[in-house]
Amino acid sequence: MGRGVAGAWRRAALSAIADLLLPAVCPLCREQAGAELCAACCAALPRLHAPCPWCGMPNHEVPCRACDERGLPHLASVRVAFAYRAKLRRLLTEAKAGGRAAAVRAAAQLVPDPAGPVALVVPVPPAPGRRSGPHLATRAARVLARRLGVPCAALLACTRSAHPQHRLSRAERWRNTQDLYAARRDPPAEVALVDDILTSGATASAAAAALIARGARAVHGCFLARTL
Ligand SMILES: [Zn+2]
Ligand SMILES: [Zn+2]
Repeated sequence: MGRGVAGAWRRAALSAIADLLLPAVCPLCREQAGAELCAACCAALPRLHAPCPWCGMPNHEVPCRACDERGLPHLASVRVAFAYRAKLRRLLTEAKAGGRAAAVRAAAQLVPDPAGPVALVVPVPPAPGRRSGPHLATRAARVLARRLGVPCAALLACTRSAHPQHRLSRAERWRNTQDLYAARRDPPAEVALVDDILTSGATASAAAAALIARGARAVHGCFLARTL
């Protein structure tokens, strides 16, 4: 086990113990009482202004300057709640890198509804070899499924390990995720696909392609945040 991984384990274990022993506070400011984001922190989250319904970039114009109305491959629509910066970035960093259970719980609640009707919610799966602990996309998918009153299933599996996307260029990201996922069984025709951060869209497109290969007709992407 590398030192970084051991450090992450220790931090996650300590934060889990602190969550149990200390009175619940807002996971972002850690000042206001209550296990959920306080009103002030919610108001300070960087909402996206008029995001493109096909690629999630803000300040949507017709045609979209980012995707030219073509959207992201294999995704019928894209809904994004926030920009990946400021307080939202801090919350997601604590949820993902820090493994803080309270941050995961709070962040998962921020998942937006899909743009169309769906019969199933599917998370983008964790990378192979990821350390254990709550996985944000999976938690957010469960939150969304409960909200919509439809089932949630971990239908996708990684077919191989891939390089961490954040170290790659845009072109490399698309190559890196080609055929990265496979569906374990046939999905219904309309599916919501949930992930935490939308960057190039390569990961989400590969996940949607795997669902379409097994018969899905419309895959609606739902993301917590978009990098700009
Ligand atoms: Zn707060
Ligand atoms: Zn667009």
